[in-house]
Amino acid sequence: MAKSFRLMPLVALLLFAGSVFAQEAPEWTKPFPPYRITGNIYYVGSQGLASYLITTPQGNILINSSLEKSVPLIRQSVEQLGFRFSDTKILLISHAHWDHCAGSAAVKELTGAKYMVMDADAPEIESGGKGNFQYGDSPTSRYQPTKVDRVLHDGDEVRLGGTVLVAHLTPGHTKGTTTWTMKVADGGKTYNVVIVGSPNVNEGYKLVNNTLYPQIASDYERMFRVLKSLPCDIFLGAHGNYYGMEEKSARMKEGGPNPFIDPDGYKSYVEEREQAFHTELAKQKGEAR
Ligand SMILES: [Zn+2]
Repeated sequence: MAKSFRLMPLVALLLFAGSVFAQEAPEWTKPFPPYRITGNIYYVGSQGLASYLITTPQGNILINSSLEKSVPLIRQSVEQLGFRFSDTKILLISHAHWDHCAGSAAVKELTGAKYMVMDADAPEIESGGKGNFQYGDSPTSRYQPTKVDRVLHDGDEVRLGGTVLVAHLTPGHTKGTTTWTMKVADGGKTYNVVIVGSPNVNEGYKLVNNTLYPQIASDYERMFRVLKSLPCDIFLGAHGNYYGMEEKSARMKEGGPNPFIDPDGYKSYVEEREQAFHTELAKQKGEAR
């Protein structure tokens, strides 16, 4: 009995750490069959971590290197679709959290891709996650420091082989969270694509009196304004669960209209996330009073 009592503080500490520090969900490393979403955009991620391959006649763009151990899975998905991993010319991310960027050093080494990151996220990328306002001291959320080849600013374009991606600064979740947009041609029509960077307030995030990120709440508000202003036909994001990836990819096999064309789903997702943010903000303001 005495022994188990002595273990109590350790158990409590682990439970606490689990909610504050980096955790890996099982679906993050579960392989998912790659497929074409629309036009020149392909899904090459795992079940839980979204990665996108955008192919062009001058080489390909990869969005999200994900975990270090995701890189072999992404490579396999790219090759399974009939493309060469070594044709990856540009590497982009949704935001500077380990589950979207820890594999970047390996992708750069394997492909020689140019790494392009939003200005406010670039210092964290180059220091391997050090200085992150929420996870900066957590060893499990650190990754290999990776050189950024081009620092992006809000509204910058990334161009390759006729494809143009626009980087929209949508901060809050990280200081440089990036929502990517592009136009895609498919079946004689042109669609607006939005790849949401993350609108989520993670567990433990301080929205009030956050000394490491004083403007966090106004940044979230800015982010929701930006997301609501973006025209969206094809709704995608950093994790498949933002937009019902699994269910939509299953529906795609049945034929009929492309289920990823979902402007209403995008609108209601953004509205729901904004409500969740305001609820959390009100709660924290009440507690801070
Ligand atoms: Zn994140």
